[in-house]
Formats: sequence, structure tokens, C-alpha cells
Amino acid sequence: MVPYIDMHCDTLMRAWMRRRSDLLHLKGMVDLARLGAGGCKAQFFAVFLPPVELVRRLGPLFPSDEDYIKKCIAIFHHTAQLHPDLLAQAKTFEEIEKNAAAGKLSGILTLEDGRAVNGRMEHLDRFYRMGIRLISLTWNAPNCFGEPNGSSGGLTSFGREAVAHMNRIGMMVDVSHLSDRGFSEVAEICRQNGKPFVASHSNCRALTPHPRNLTDEMIRALADCGGVIGVNFGPDFLEQGQPRFRKESRIAAIVAHLKHMIRIGGTDCAAIGTDFDGINGRLEIGSADRMPLLFEALEREGFAADAIEKIAFRNVERVLRETIY
Ligand SMILES: [Zn+2]
Repeated sequence: MVPYIDMHCDTLMRAWMRRRSDLLHLKGMVDLARLGAGGCKAQFFAVFLPPVELVRRLGPLFPSDEDYIKKCIAIFHHTAQLHPDLLAQAKTFEEIEKNAAAGKLSGILTLEDGRAVNGRMEHLDRFYRMGIRLISLTWNAPNCFGEPNGSSGGLTSFGREAVAHMNRIGMMVDVSHLSDRGFSEVAEICRQNGKPFVASHSNCRALTPHPRNLTDEMIRALADCGGVIGVNFGPDFLEQGQPRFRKESRIAAIVAHLKHMIRIGGTDCAAIGTDFDGINGRLEIGSADRMPLLFEALEREGFAADAIEKIAFRNVERVLRETIY
């Protein structure tokens, strides 16, 4: 079985919504049992901040952003305590290697929507101390970092300083959901600092014209910095013009996006960011245990074993080595 690293899932939010605090068996797309069956080596667990409109609708059911983040992180730690033989947190590349040697899956905590940073550098440091090792700067609304995809704006002045700060302290910068201008600004700052950045769950705009996907120029800029793009399994990002109630995520489309990334940015920039538990539709790979289907498809398409390993985990490992500590 090919080991793999997945750069994005929304499982912590799903567990929080369902009041679950053990990720061993869930009815969704990701849980410890399915990750084990699929061969997962490391899973990035995003703490996804629900959109402000949803927070308003939830009213008293939603704690503050701060409390919610703590609760999601607590779900992760509770699971690791219940199943110390299966899961351990990784805050560095070395810890992933150590966990893998002990037969454990690594969990890497990330924050999706940097709004909780609230324009204060000390909050960034605090999230780092809480174990967060990647921040998706924006979700689909403007925040203290900058403007989201589809907007013509870029980073704020705080956003520019914060990206440089993240490069310094050892926190990965994620441009998935960010605007095109924000992307270029991140690329420029990271290039100057000699640090890779990532698009944890985005696809190719040349194949599927969606503002969440990357243009060829963006793929080149990201690859030039040594970064990686995690291919997203969500139907809207894979194929355009899908019927509203019968959206499909086909393995062939995932393979097509990976091929395009590689054609434009080279073999070292392609990776996986499933977006499990944050996407829906008819998914050919709809849960972590089905991940081997992707690697089998790549093999049938003539990918060499070495190229498959790069996509599956080696490229992300290279970036982790260079960015988090
Ligand atoms: Zn997302």
C-alpha cells in the first residue's frame, strides 16, 4: 500500500457539530479506522472556522472563535489520548518520522481562516504554541490577512507582515481560498525569505475555471518557491458545469488535475488535499480508506513508482522539512 499525506480535511468541525470527541469511528469520510485502512501516514486536521453568517444563525450554540478552536483541538488531543497506539500529533517533520516508525498516524493541526488571528502578531505566536502549524490565510471572506478568492484585492499590511512572521517562526502559509493578488504577494514574500508555501486544497484553473483553482502562472510561481498543491476531490473544483444535484468527483478528473500540475510545475509540486468532510456529491473516492484507488489509477496511467510516492507523500514531506519546526 502506498503511504500518503493529506493536507486538508474538515473532520474536526464535523465531529464538533456532532458532539463527538473520539475520531476512531465516525460516519463521515475521515476517521482513524479509515485512515489506517487507506494507508495514511499524516493527516492535516483543519480547524475550520464556520462562516460568520452560520455563526450568527447558530447564536448561543456557537462559542467564540477562540473557544471553538480550543474545543476542536481538544477533540484531536482526546482522540490521541484514547488511542495512543494509533494517533500522535506531529509538529515537525521529525515527529512524523518518529510516529511512522512506531506505526502511528501523525495528525498536523491547521487553521482554516486566519480571522481568529485578529490582526495581532501575538495571536499568531499563541496559535503556534497551541500546535497549529499551517494557516489558510483566508476562507471566502475578507479578514485581517487579506481578500479571498474572487476578489481583486490582495493582502493587508498586517497580512504581509504576518506571512513574513510565519516564515520565521515555522508555520506553513496556505494560499487556498486567497485572492489572486494575495497569492502573488505571498509568493513574493516567501521567495524573498527562501521558504516554500502551499495551496493545501486547490486545483487547476486551466481545466476548471473556478476562482479557488490556480492559474498556470500561479502553479509556476508556487513550484518556483518549492511549494506544493494538494489536489482537491470536491466536484466543483474538478469539473465545470456539473448538474446541481448530481455532482460527481471522478478519479479520472483528479488524475487529470495532477497531470496538469505536473506538466506546468513539475513532479515536485503535486500533492493531495482531499477536503474530505468539507465536500459532497457522488465521490468515487469518498473516504480515506478508498485512497489506494487513486494510486492504482496513477499506476495504470503510467506514473512511475517514484512519481506516485512524490505525489502521495514525498513532496509534502520536503515542504514540511523546510517550513515547520
Ligand atoms: Zn477550504
